[in-house]
Amino acid sequence: MKPSNDIPAGSHGMPCPLCGGDRVKVRYVISNSRIVFCPDCTLMRLAEQPTQDELLAVYNDEYFTNKQFFAGGLYGYVDYISERINKQKEYADLFASVNKVLREQAGPGGETALSGQDDGKRTWLDVGCGLGYLLDAAVDHGFCSEGIEFNQWAVGECRKRYAFPVHCGSVEDVVPQLGQKKYDVVSLLDVIEHVPDPFLTLQIVRGLLKPGGVLVIVTQDSLSWTSRLIGSRLEDFRRVREHLFFFSRDSLERSLSKAGMTTVVERYCGHTFEVNLVLRRVLYQRHRKLYDFMAQAIDFVGLGGLKVPLNPQVKFLSISTSGPTAVKRSSDRYWGPLDEILWIAVAAPVAVFWTFSTICREFPESIIGRLTRVLADML
Ligand SMILES: [Zn+2]
Repeated sequence: MKPSNDIPAGSHGMPCPLCGGDRVKVRYVISNSRIVFCPDCTLMRLAEQPTQDELLAVYNDEYFTNKQFFAGGLYGYVDYISERINKQKEYADLFASVNKVLREQAGPGGETALSGQDDGKRTWLDVGCGLGYLLDAAVDHGFCSEGIEFNQWAVGECRKRYAFPVHCGSVEDVVPQLGQKKYDVVSLLDVIEHVPDPFLTLQIVRGLLKPGGVLVIVTQDSLSWTSRLIGSRLEDFRRVREHLFFFSRDSLERSLSKAGMTTVVERYCGHTFEVNLVLRRVLYQRHRKLYDFMAQAIDFVGLGGLKVPLNPQVKFLSISTSGPTAVKRSSDRYWGPLDEILWIAVAAPVAVFWTFSTICREFPESIIGRLTRVLADML
């Protein structure tokens, strides 16, 4: 007898869109939505995909400043604009990795990817560019920027602030407007999980790359230890109004390979979090009293605004290329469970030391800062 959580293909569920397998099983149930898992290729997806109208209702004018976020409206961003400063480290690491791959692909003669069309500059197309922060940083790194964004309000804001072109719509809508133009870099940061047909999107963006150009993707690793441990309580899984597909490193690599791309870099990427906001996200809805207590305690010691760079191994960066010299680096492959335990053993003391020294430096009047001075005087 089949277990009750099986969804036979052809009834409620469709065969897996990546591998065609029909052994999909329910992995998580969140509100009324079911996330199903394909054991053959590890792809996860919403069993019941939203309609176009439901998606349009999510990507509204308030998507980037969602005032209902903590009241149960789990989509979009609480305050995307104030998060800009928190992305700087993430972007610096990203540009370093992309430039390295572009140099490798260009080869000794600097051919292909480095032969720009726009005054010799390399071109960067960001699909789902939001308020254009990445593209603005790309200009500073010597790229000629261009964006595609589905949200009309965000497109308007980009056009007010920046000189680079931003097209409104999905990548499928916008491609005809781009003509024959090809790019050195196409990026989809926190985007691939939102699109209704990610496999079609990958094929389209592959066609937008110059020979040797690179595709940059950041998305959740649905099978990382953090994702498995936190499971259906993880915000990335709970965003069922907008997250339609959940890739693992394996299923993304397989999807890219199907689109003719070779993955050359694959690693976890972190983010800089404000302490207050992390607390609010983790505790506010289910443990309101604990949240109130912690928030007051943190304010009392003067650390509410502290920003901490964290890499909880939820999201990963994938850089792929269709270039002739693309070689998958084995050292960038999976970490096993032992690596993860060792990583925590090393990272935890470093994080504690870093946090402590930052508090002393940035918040000398906080309790920890004062205590340190007292101890230093005594010694
Ligand atoms: Zn599958």
